[in-house]
Amino acid sequence: MSARAGRRVVIVGAGAAGDAAAGAMRKSGFDGEVVMVGADRHPAYHRPYLSKQFLRDELPVERVMLRQPDDYGKLDVDWLGGRRAVAASRRDSSITLDDGRELRFDVLVLATGGTPRWLDPIPRLANVVALRTLDDGVALKEALADAGRLLVIGAGFIGAEVAASVRTMRKEALVVEVAPVPLGRALGEDMGQVYARLHRDRGVDLRTGTSVTGWVADGERVAAVQLSDGTREEVDLVLVAVGIEPDLSLARELGLTLGSGGVLVDETLRAGPDVYCAGDIAAHLHPVFGRHLRVEHWQVARKQGQAIGEAIAGEPRPYEELPWFWSDQYDVNLQYLGHAAGFDQAVPRGDPDGGKFSVFYLKDDRVEAVLAFNDGRTIRFSRELIRARVPVSAEALAEESTDLRELAGRSGPSGG
Ligand SMILES: Cc1cc2nc3c(=O)[nH]c(=O)nc-3n(C[C@H](O)[C@H](O)[C@H](O)COP(=O)(O)OP(=O)(O)OC[C@H]3O[C@@H](n4cnc5c(N)ncnc54)[C@H](O)[C@@H]3O)c2cc1C
Repeated sequence: MSARAGRRVVIVGAGAAGDAAAGAMRKSGFDGEVVMVGADRHPAYHRPYLSKQFLRDELPVERVMLRQPDDYGKLDVDWLGGRRAVAASRRDSSITLDDGRELRFDVLVLATGGTPRWLDPIPRLANVVALRTLDDGVALKEALADAGRLLVIGAGFIGAEVAASVRTMRKEALVVEVAPVPLGRALGEDMGQVYARLHRDRGVDLRTGTSVTGWVADGERVAAVQLSDGTREEVDLVLVAVGIEPDLSLARELGLTLGSGGVLVDETLRAGPDVYCAGDIAAHLHPVFGRHLRVEHWQVARKQGQAIGEAIAGEPRPYEELPWFWSDQYDVNLQYLGHAAGFDQAVPRGDPDGGKFSVFYLKDDRVEAVLAFNDGRTIRFSRELIRARVPVSAEALAEESTDLRELAGRSGPSGG
């Protein structure tokens, strides 16, 4: 028995991060008790498939699942599926479940993810849906079978992916986005335009700088919408894709420090000596960037969960992975590495019209992030460059013959 035997870890949230924490804890030899509470009735599954292959009927539900219900038993993890933690006390080191049960913990892992945001004027009618859970995914897929025209509100990643899937299924997609370009704040104006073109070229009716000003109901369903561009559009189904609200109610009850839209955690992902947070709710003090980053992406949640599992089984260490995510839309594989909050230059490398290119986002001459369209190689070779935090010249980055790994080893604003 290890020195840690007898400790009880409670994980709240059995999604990407919570599941990874449980798995890593056991893999790393933790032999205390592990209880995982998950409001979802299903064991963990790959959320990213829900807007892509699963929606297009290219992947059966079994392949969407990360775990089968009996996997947790095999891992010696007590999975309480379909149960919600409704209260928490730091003083008593306990959480309370929706069936009244109280669970004491020695270590708590909070990985509660988020809930789709719903803007106030959007009516709660039968054909107005959001997409977060497997049940949402099944419902959307069923509803799409009978729908010819989908309205998507919001051209962020999930809205755009669903629109792309719907076009692939040869149905009509109308996307309404209030911003002048989609993802402009994250990717910059130019890339927002490239992204808009990607969808328009494939037949998405993307209306930017536009909002829904009126809803026309037919009984329990939306039949049409009035748009701010003066048009009225008939629709069969509406997907609300305007982001998520991180689920912070337990964090608030525990008195954890909030910031950057989530729970502030230190370099080791701890919000306090006995509380870890991971995934969409964690605003992590990243050692490479020296600031709190909160990232709503799959791989970040998995890796943070894994790091927490290993830390609980061993010793907490700074979590240093660079944020990375991908999105598949039509034949385009989009990848993003790093984190650019308030970049001052966006430097393209390659030809945006050629279908394969990248963009470097710089702040004070340092590369903060890289976005790649069908260009995984540049992402791979940029890791050291982002980590190095050395000043580099935009010219050197833009030049396709420049060896990015070599650039990481150099310093000085000339990049050479
Ligand atoms: C349709 C879709 C497509 C996506 N595609 C991509 C993609 O292509 N690439 C990418 O990088 N990311 C993608 N994402 C984002 C990615 O899935 C999330 O960032 C990731 O799942 C976050 O992990 P998490 O563990 O923080 O939260 P989740 O995976 O949401 O897990 C949180 C869990 O906590 C549970 N919970 C919440 N409150 C409580 C409570 N009080 N008690 C008990 N349980 C609770 C919830 O039920 C949920 O199951 C996508 C997301 C969606 C919805």
